[in-house]
Amino acid sequence: MNSNTALVLFSGGQDSTTCLAWALGNFAHVETIGFNYGQRHLAEMGARPVIRAAIAGIERWSGRLGEDHILPINVMSAIGGTALTDNMKIEMGRDGLPTTFVPGRNIFFLAAAAALGYRRGISDLVGGMCETDFSGYPDCRDETIKATARSLSLGLAREVRIHTPLMWIDKAATWKMAEDLGGKALVDLIIQETVTCYNGVPTPRDWGKGCGECPACALRAQGYAKYRAA
Ligand code: ZN
Repeated sequence: MNSNTALVLFSGGQDSTTCLAWALGNFAHVETIGFNYGQRHLAEMGARPVIRAAIAGIERWSGRLGEDHILPINVMSAIGGTALTDNMKIEMGRDGLPTTFVPGRNIFFLAAAAALGYRRGISDLVGGMCETDFSGYPDCRDETIKATARSLSLGLAREVRIHTPLMWIDKAATWKMAEDLGGKALVDLIIQETVTCYNGVPTPRDWGKGCGECPACALRAQGYAKYRAA
């Protein structure tokens, strides 16, 4: 088993770009995986190759970034009923969760990543799940991720480690982590190229690309303001 290689769940947003940088700082070889799950907006997916190319060019990580893998997972859009896969308003649903909640999304992603990792001899997965800012999403909780790692390790009869460097930090600290890992070059790259907007609007802002109004943009803008003020 190769413990020098990590597989990063890389969507092209701020969080997963920061996770990619974290992995490049901690592993000698890093591969990325992305998912087509029927998301309504493909702005993030379009940003992925641009960000990968730019990160590969940052000197401290030279030669570390390996292959990219894209897998289709259609089951979530087939089930539907969420604002990320259907034309639905972003609001609080009757279950007490926002309509952006895609049931089981991270569990599907992690299972698919672990299966690909199994084929490629990679045991270390890296994901941007975070309890601090998105505590409404039960599949982002640390306990869910730990239980998923255990389940996958048992089910594959091979250890699966899931690293979540953003689990306990807020958005301002995520910006600071990017600065610590990759300096101004990485912060600028995140501002210029990443899209984390629920509406998939790529309008440039001083904190990145987005509509500026949806909950994801609001969180990102607030975090950036707090980071800059610190
Ligand atoms: Zn937005």
